[in-house]
Amino acid sequence: MPDAGTDAYGGSGPGARLAMGGARVHELSIAQSVVQAVTERAGDRKVLVVRLTVGRLSGVVPDALRFSFDLVTEGTTAQGAVLEIDEPQGLASCRSCAAEFVLRDLILLCGCGSADVLVLSGNELLVQSMEVA
Ligand SMILES: [Zn+2]
Repeated sequence: MPDAGTDAYGGSGPGARLAMGGARVHELSIAQSVVQAVTERAGDRKVLVVRLTVGRLSGVVPDALRFSFDLVTEGTTAQGAVLEIDEPQGLASCRSCAAEFVLRDLILLCGCGSADVLVLSGNELLVQSMEVA
């Protein structure tokens, strides 16, 4: 799996690069990794549901990921599978004042002025589970 903390394709803004009419390159490569992993493990069985955790700070756009998932599952045992995406919000704690707070973006700055902030959650990118026939 690619490192969830980096995005080599220019960030997650709405103007980020588009490829294949809606699938961003980043999400496309993630979808390929996910589909390869689940179809390998499912063997001959049909994949019905795939559940992912995609933290809001991961830089991954869920809609683009869904679109890419539909593309790359075509012709595989995961074709037609439902993709469920859980999107945990970002949580951080400040090492200077010990406050815990919600992170809406990757600007790691506490209200106390400190940037010595530890991300607790929200940058996850992982396959949670799958259902097979
Ligand atoms: Zn602080």
